[in-house]
Amino acid sequence: MAIDRSLLSPAEKLLWQYGVRDPSHIDLEAIANYRGAEVVYRRLCGCAARLVAAGDRAIISVGVGSYPGRQRFSLAHELAHWICDMDHGSFRCANEDIGPQNAEAKNIEAYANGYASQLILPSFLVDPWLDGKRINLDTAKALGSEFDASLTASAIKVARRAQAQTCVACHNQTKRIWSQKNLAFPHDFYVKQELHQDTAAFSMAFGKGSGLSRPVKEAADRWLQGPEAYRRTVETQSLKLPDDTILTMITLLPGK
Ligand SMILES: [Zn+2]
Repeated sequence: MAIDRSLLSPAEKLLWQYGVRDPSHIDLEAIANYRGAEVVYRRLCGCAARLVAAGDRAIISVGVGSYPGRQRFSLAHELAHWICDMDHGSFRCANEDIGPQNAEAKNIEAYANGYASQLILPSFLVDPWLDGKRINLDTAKALGSEFDASLTASAIKVARRAQAQTCVACHNQTKRIWSQKNLAFPHDFYVKQELHQDTAAFSMAFGKGSGLSRPVKEAADRWLQGPEAYRRTVETQSLKLPDDTILTMITLLPGK
């Protein structure tokens, strides 16, 4: 594998240093242990994960109430605090602090999320894996099972690494909860607040569809607002997440 190590992010450098050359090598508990942190899974009250530090030792507790991809992300998030924020002592991180969709703000929680995303889905392994694959949720699902990552984290990763104008959005029955655009996505286009009633996502949100929809081409103004959105077409695919919210990947196809 030809890798320019100077281009690796701090989390990727850490993985590289521990000999990670394949997704199956990413053993977060082993890295935590090497770094003096013990990992325990237990029931937690009032937070999703916590880090209790004492000198150069720490205990990372991960709440057992969530599904495995979520627990893995929580572990990576606390590991990021342990490695990057050692001066700050201990952390109690709420469910809403932890998540790949919250990695852009300039605060300590967002930094930990960005670092955690790179620990679980390092670009130096994801990019060659993605080469030649379609940009949709089928690919995100396959990426998630290859890298043992949640669907949300995998979908955001696929969108971010895509050349196409792609974004990922998460809605519930009444509103958009979050959205993430990639760098190619036009800055003056936004994902609409509400699901359009003619979309597969709407049917899923109101209990009619489940699982994963097929990728479809549809009018862009069902999903997006922006200059002449009514003339444009998007390719979309939606999926119902375990918490009943709907994740959609939206690619704006080239205009005429
Ligand atoms: Zn945190």
